[in-house]
Amino acid sequence: MKLLVRRCSSDLHETPYTAEVILETGAKINIDRAYVDAVRADLIIDVPSDKLEQVTEHFKQKGVEVRRLMKLIAWDEERCIHCGACISVCPVGVFTFDQAWTIHLEEEKCIQCDVCKKACPLNALASVD
Ligand code: SF4
Ligand code: SF4
Repeated sequence: MKLLVRRCSSDLHETPYTAEVILETGAKINIDRAYVDAVRADLIIDVPSDKLEQVTEHFKQKGVEVRRLMKLIAWDEERCIHCGACISVCPVGVFTFDQAWTIHLEEEKCIQCDVCKKACPLNALASVD
């Protein structure tokens, strides 16, 4: 099962939270993708099913946001300009506008058709293997 784990903090580089979770849970976590800058780290990790709940709980205890990736489309929130092009092309309604006219995703609906990747003018969408 893939998880998106996100930590936003100025002391990001001082805390090896992923290593700590691996040691604490004994889970064989595979890091599929990583984006790290000065104040934010986004990791897409693959976690064995039997360790999923335990790993999720340990990350949350460390103040890390955890989101399950039921289907695999990655959205680069920093690049997105909320133009709505992906809403019109997605055949299964993954994308919607919320009340503030910002894009909201329901990743679990994705069927990986890749249409949205071509439609996005900012290359903010990518498949996650
Ligand atoms: S098409 Fe790209 S830039 Fe436009 S709303 Fe969708 S993800 Fe954001
Ligand atoms: S890959 Fe296809 S199904 Fe998935 S979000 Fe993009 S357009 Fe929708």
